[in-house]
Amino acid sequence: MTTPAPHELDLTAEQMRALGHRVVDLVVDHLHEQRNRPVHRRVEAGEVDHVLTEPVPEDPADPAGLVDFLAAEVLPRSLRLGHPGCFAFIPSANNFLGVLGDLLASGFNTSPGAWFVGAGPAAVEQVTARWLAELLGMPAGTGGVFTPGGTMANLTAVAAARYDRLDDDAADAVLYCSDQTHPAVLRACRVLGLGDSPRVLPSTGHRLDPDLVRREVDSDRRAGRRPFLVLANAGTTNTGSVDPLPELARLCREHDLWLHVDGAHGAAASMTTRGRAALVGLDEADSVVIDPHKWLFQPYEIGCLLVRDPATLHRAFALGRFRAQAGYLDLARPAPGEVNLSDHGVQFTTAARALKLWLSFKGFGVAAFRAAIDRGLDLAEHAADLVQRSHELELLAGPSLGILCLRYRPRAADGAADLDAIQARIAETVNQGDRFMIATTDVDGRRALRLCTINPRTTPADVDSLVVDVLEAGRALE
Ligand SMILES: *Cc1c(COP(=O)(O)O)cnc(C)c1O
Repeated sequence: MTTPAPHELDLTAEQMRALGHRVVDLVVDHLHEQRNRPVHRRVEAGEVDHVLTEPVPEDPADPAGLVDFLAAEVLPRSLRLGHPGCFAFIPSANNFLGVLGDLLASGFNTSPGAWFVGAGPAAVEQVTARWLAELLGMPAGTGGVFTPGGTMANLTAVAAARYDRLDDDAADAVLYCSDQTHPAVLRACRVLGLGDSPRVLPSTGHRLDPDLVRREVDSDRRAGRRPFLVLANAGTTNTGSVDPLPELARLCREHDLWLHVDGAHGAAASMTTRGRAALVGLDEADSVVIDPHKWLFQPYEIGCLLVRDPATLHRAFALGRFRAQAGYLDLARPAPGEVNLSDHGVQFTTAARALKLWLSFKGFGVAAFRAAIDRGLDLAEHAADLVQRSHELELLAGPSLGILCLRYRPRAADGAADLDAIQARIAETVNQGDRFMIATTDVDGRRALRLCTINPRTTPADVDSLVVDVLEAGRALE
């Protein structure tokens, strides 16, 4: 084959295959060797200056060398979120079939947004959303859209609800949520022009109190404001807590409010028996967000919004209403029976995100996903058990949906011990080793160590070692 001319931005087939194999090898090595690498190393300021200060690369360089540079100098300078010792944030244990789904999506560079453009990927998107709805126990007819993540999925939900309940007029709109709501969700409300709208209510036991919501709704209605939405959490990021969904659903029915559930972290647990019990009432929501790039083990980015009545999405987002001089889109106008998914959300061109979820669901089988989620629930219960059996540890929250918060109590604790500072020092010590990464957080004003145990490749023995490290770090402070 002849060498492509520079303007073609092309490689020979042989070069592509050789480079592709090299990249696949690097990814496989990364995934297989994660456990033996440090979970994290802090990158000092200045350490990436050789990346930051590079001039514009006018001339070509050997792509294999560049791939190696990324693999050696760039990618390892990251927290290994899929490391079995990573308990901080929401760990992200991706899977190789998901990786390949993304490779296919970007290689074929199709877009499911318009049926005319990407009917096949659109069909995969629709069926995968239907599977998710079914797996979460949502009623038949539920539909949805895929998004870059939970933030955009929540934004899409609130925008759809505003359109549906307020005729898109944000004046005097009020929505209700607890102080455990994810800050990115509150920011999304601000982006929608609802910045002053959220009544961020104090939580009771980390849960939204339906009676408090009822009182607020009554008083807002009396004051002439327009309540339209309750934004409930199904698995807060901080403690994994779940708002009382059945009571909130009843309240929403009585007061004609949209019930939206942010299950970005927790909704996936509904696929298991224990999770379904913890998330009872999820099926009564008008909309639910789930983040497959969290507890469904997909590579970033993929979020999903599921809506009980998908026609509400079409009413809120159909592009026809906005078409100015866009005759060029006539070619992509859907015929009866066809769906343009870009009419159901905020994005126009989208990556074929659902391919990775489709490929991993089918390749591993959903039963394996249930087992993987169950493993995360088991690990949290195991950790909680260790905490409760220790005289030096105290459980502050959970275990709930794979998250627990605990605290070290010195054996000789007198009133003067600064327990908050002790937790921070313990986390620092533990995180300085190569094996574990844990976060601290505040639980009812008290500093705690927070563990999220949803990586299915983490073992009970890993949790045992972590608890040993926490105890040793704590004792060393005495
Ligand atoms: C992660 C998370 C979000 C934000 O989702 P992104 O995918 O990071 O955009 C929102 N809500 C909850 C409960 C989350 O755990």
